[in-house]
Amino acid sequence: MTDEMDSITAAVRRCTRCSLCETRTNAVPGVGSGKSGVMFVGEAPGRSEDLRGRPFVGKAGKILTKVLEDAGVSRESVYITNTVKCRPPQNRVPHQSERDACRAHLDSEMRTLEPAIICIMGNTAYGSILGGTGITDKRGKIIEKDGRIYFPTIHPAAVIYNPDLATVLAADIKKLFGILGDVRAGKKVACDDSA
Ligand code: SF4
Repeated sequence: MTDEMDSITAAVRRCTRCSLCETRTNAVPGVGSGKSGVMFVGEAPGRSEDLRGRPFVGKAGKILTKVLEDAGVSRESVYITNTVKCRPPQNRVPHQSERDACRAHLDSEMRTLEPAIICIMGNTAYGSILGGTGITDKRGKIIEKDGRIYFPTIHPAAVIYNPDLATVLAADIKKLFGILGDVRAGKKVACDDSA
């Protein structure tokens, strides 16, 4: 991690910008490496993440790790974070005010890491970052907004409730790293949509 990323991590840990700081056990900063060029963004920490202060370490995290490994990518080589860095009580969907309050941290992560592709996981993160609730239509597509490339997919937790979605997530992750290969090779990536 660079000094800038260390500063962002420290800022998240001491943040009191919204009331989720009052109910958290630990704030959950992003982790991983910016070297792969991919940033994964989920909704918010759950119980395991709140207890350990690390993102995607519960059941959904294990699914994410496996799907990455199946695509030949180590978890350590990507950066993983959430739109909201503190657990909402009972894992409720974060309020818009909480998403707005936490957006500055996500913006700092994006500005510092400058990922080639931002993989948005799940409808809540999709709405927070691109607006709307259109992940069903936009899933698995390349979306350009404000000079950044986004790739929405389902949240790994969806696979817990519907195991059939494992193949959807696996196919999306393979496609994502195929696109990354093209970006790395300097090829022009055709965007499917804009937001
Ligand atoms: Fe700060 Fe985000 Fe935690 Fe709210 S959710 S206290 S804005 S780090």
